[in-house]
Amino acid sequence: MSLCSIRLLSAIALCIASFGASAADKPGVVIYATGGTIAGASKSNTDTTNYTAGSLGIDVLIKAVPELNDVATVSGEQISNVSSSNVSSAILLKLSKAINAKLAAPDIHGAVVTHGTDTLEESALFLDLTVKSSKPVVIVGAMRPATAISADGPMNLLEAVALAASKDAENRGAMVLLNDRFASAYYVTKTNSTVVDTFRAVEQGYLGMFTGTVPHFYYEAAKPVGKPFFDVSKTESLPRVDVIYTYEDQDIALIDAAIAAGAKGIVIAGSGNGAMTAAVKAKVAELSKKGFPVVVSTRTGSGFVSKKEAGIGSGFMNPQKARILLMLAINDGASDEKIRSYFGTF
Ligand code: ASP
Repeated sequence: MSLCSIRLLSAIALCIASFGASAADKPGVVIYATGGTIAGASKSNTDTTNYTAGSLGIDVLIKAVPELNDVATVSGEQISNVSSSNVSSAILLKLSKAINAKLAAPDIHGAVVTHGTDTLEESALFLDLTVKSSKPVVIVGAMRPATAISADGPMNLLEAVALAASKDAENRGAMVLLNDRFASAYYVTKTNSTVVDTFRAVEQGYLGMFTGTVPHFYYEAAKPVGKPFFDVSKTESLPRVDVIYTYEDQDIALIDAAIAAGAKGIVIAGSGNGAMTAAVKAKVAELSKKGFPVVVSTRTGSGFVSKKEAGIGSGFMNPQKARILLMLAINDGASDEKIRSYFGTF
């Protein structure tokens, strides 16, 4: 047989093989939709700031990207359809329970959550801390509404599904994907209000990147150091935790107001390495003595807040993430010492 006919035969074999591989042979990936810009619509295709987030349903999102079927057997579930500023603890509990139940099924390889970008990092951390599975959980959003020129949602969704379908994505904790790059949900944060490359893990970096629909990982699978797990399977609601932002001249009025409103814990977005005015620091010390948990984070946007004289240093948790971790810790009945260990600042 000539070289030419061998090439022809292998080309035909390849062709038959790829026709034979149906979507049903691909890894099962469930997409949970919560709303956000990825499901947003505007009257103008050039207006990327005035639009209604959470306008399109999960079926529309899936239908818009038929290529999803090339990388996975996808199914969709609508959890909510809101701008992420309206994602509540109730929605997070519903989402976490749904994902935990679904990932237990052998035919499901991973979960994708579509979410508004504004609070995405909070929900992503919540899932990272409450989903017990080695299977991939990928949280994805978009910075441009679905109706915009060069909308980033469709490609982000395709890459998120490809990541959730990837064997190499297992045992890494939850991941956040936007703009061809993915990072650990534990560390990632939104760093810019409008641009598409807004998500970064400032100190820790990305876990990998995409070319086309192929994920490239920079490291072997590993979980963030010290990441705890919280079982919320029986939790119906979470304790109130408020975040209070530090500024010059600050007094204790907002702390008192938070406690009067029912806060069971407080996060201070301190300046620098968790600094506070003398009045706030004295109040935090007094609350800590009484066993009321106050976590002190930083308003700087990145870095580690070390052990504090008053309150609990937040470690790598920024204020909004510290709030999620503190809510889960209080809900679990964690002691002061245990809470310190979660933040890595004992
Ligand atoms: N306002 C939107 C939201 O968080 C922004 C976004 O999705 O990018 O739902």
